[in-house]
Amino acid sequence: MSSKRVERLEVGKHSQNTLDNLLHEERIHAPSGEFAAQANATSELYAQADADREAFWADQARHLHWDTEWEQVLDWSGAPFAKWFVGGKLNVAYNCVDRHVEAGNGDRVAIHWEGEPGDSRAITYAELAREVSRTANALASLGVGAGDRVAIYLPMLPEAVYSMLACARLGALHSVVFGGFSSEALRTRINDAQAKVVITADGQYRRGKAMPLKTNVDEAVAATPSVEHVLVVQRTKTDVEWNDGRDQWWHDVVEGRPASHTPEFFDSEHPLFILYTSGTTGRPKGILHTSGGYLTQAAYTHRTVFDLKPETDVYWCTADIGWVTGHTYIVYGPLANGATQVIYEGTPNTPHEGRHWDIVQKYGVTLYYTAPTTIRTFMKWGAEIPARYDLSTLRVLGSVGEPINPEAWMWYREHIGGNRAPIVDTWWQTETGAIMISPLPGVTATKPGSAQVPLPGIAAKVVDESGEQVGHGGGGLLVLDQPWPAMLRGIWGDDDRYRETYWSKFADKGYYFAGDGAKYDDDGDIWLLGRVDDVMNVSGHRISTTEVESALVSHPTVAEAAVVGASDPTTGQGIVAFVILRGGADDQASGEAAIKALRDHVAHEIGPIAKPRQIMVVPELPKTRSGKIMRRLLRDVAENREIGDVSTLADSSVMNLISAGFATSS
Ligand code: ATP
Ligand code: MG
Repeated sequence: MSSKRVERLEVGKHSQNTLDNLLHEERIHAPSGEFAAQANATSELYAQADADREAFWADQARHLHWDTEWEQVLDWSGAPFAKWFVGGKLNVAYNCVDRHVEAGNGDRVAIHWEGEPGDSRAITYAELAREVSRTANALASLGVGAGDRVAIYLPMLPEAVYSMLACARLGALHSVVFGGFSSEALRTRINDAQAKVVITADGQYRRGKAMPLKTNVDEAVAATPSVEHVLVVQRTKTDVEWNDGRDQWWHDVVEGRPASHTPEFFDSEHPLFILYTSGTTGRPKGILHTSGGYLTQAAYTHRTVFDLKPETDVYWCTADIGWVTGHTYIVYGPLANGATQVIYEGTPNTPHEGRHWDIVQKYGVTLYYTAPTTIRTFMKWGAEIPARYDLSTLRVLGSVGEPINPEAWMWYREHIGGNRAPIVDTWWQTETGAIMISPLPGVTATKPGSAQVPLPGIAAKVVDESGEQVGHGGGGLLVLDQPWPAMLRGIWGDDDRYRETYWSKFADKGYYFAGDGAKYDDDGDIWLLGRVDDVMNVSGHRISTTEVESALVSHPTVAEAAVVGASDPTTGQGIVAFVILRGGADDQASGEAAIKALRDHVAHEIGPIAKPRQIMVVPELPKTRSGKIMRRLLRDVAENREIGDVSTLADSSVMNLISAGFATSS
């Protein structure tokens, strides 16, 4: 049964500048009355925010502890550099830790930490307060003070959280670098931020093996003059080289320190962290975030989008703390709200493909937040795996990082959410700091594949190239037309690049240009259509990669798909698709007839214009280390060019496999 409607294409009707709107979705899931009755969010929130945006955000900020209250909610006179809660003073770490202890919740578990080999630790808020204080005291003894930068290059260990919060407590900026990045990537990030201290571990567990980590730091800091100390957590007992004077063991420097530390209160606009974007499109940017506005929106969105009930929920976000999702939805949002959460060290298939569901069952996880790439991997492994576990505690499911294909959404709902838990598809970026567009559970009737509506207090629009809002059914570019509390305050050390990247395209309107294509459906809900750089132009039609990929993924044999536009002498660009087949489908589905069936399927789902010129079955797709498909590399393959920069790829050998296969098939 196909529940999608195909819109007839009228050639010539569409302007060159807006995206064609091709895929339609009519499977709508209204919230249950039972969920709605207990939900944190109500439809009232939208009305409140519309009536007075600044008063609305001031109400949200009052959920935090301020040492000094602000005098002005928003100062936008220095646009595009915003100031939120001007004159207010707070300590971010105090908000995330101490105040919960002072409120009598010291015995509540803050973190159920689960190591990859199966070891585990439960850390209460009282213990977290002691550990963060010890770490702050230790960092201070190493000379770290307000405004200094600290690089954190750690696996998913509790010490990563202690380190981030200790920096926040001291007013130092952390720059977390994902533990899967190379020494070269680490070195450039350390040098860009001029970090004084690097915090790392001897090694990390990856797929059941202890892998060295500190060796990367040793290589990196050979050419980072700013680094004075390297603090090393012992995790795997891997042998390490030691540089006396520079290197210090965590257990020597932190463990004996006093377990109390008096926090200083900092200005609302005091910088909190630098985080480099994932590098899907090019050279990573050092995104700068500050304190009061960021924490306000982190806590607000975590409370409303996940319907968090801190006394009873067990929340689990599967991101790495090296990404913004880990910053806002493992560290700052959940801890500001006093949540109990799971942090898992390892990969989803160690020691077996049911590990996530085993963890959900073990801790009774109620709120689960992951990425489409992970969901598609679970689909590939098969629904019989989650079916072996008790997942009945799950009550809200989240998705972030890429557009989620409607079929993956449906699979998530059925096989993980028991056709019961609402799904929140959350659109945001490193730059936005926190969730911007998402359904609200208990309020929004959800649609597979659509992030739907800006949150209360957030303004977003789909516009054409000239900045005019497109109508229902129209496609174009996503912009944010009002400043928001967690917005970036710039690119570290490069104000010009900040203005140029985000604010120059619609300078006359003052809109923030997100770089993503989007459309409105007939109800006015927003669909994210992938990066503008990836949009294809076929015979004058601007077609979204996401829509064609979603059509491919809706075929029963396809697990994942990546689509690019390759130059074509007759149509301008031709659609080239790379597909990964679902487990068991390999034998029957890679032949010529099967490829033809896939091409016809796309034509049937979205129209003949979107029929791929070529489809290639591949074993893997090139992805960033955060799991996002890197289409620009596939475009290089499809156009027989030399392959561009692969330094942010998770596995660069994937590209050799794909280009060799492409050369023989075309
Ligand atoms: P770079 O900016 O360096 O190329 P990146 O954009 O991948 O890297 P992030 O800030 O981690 O770095 O990702 C934000 C982007 O991820 C968004 O601009 C959008 O393209 C995509 N994205 C995130 N969440 C969603 C979502 N729910 N639906 C669609 N796209 C999403
Ligand atoms: Mg980006």
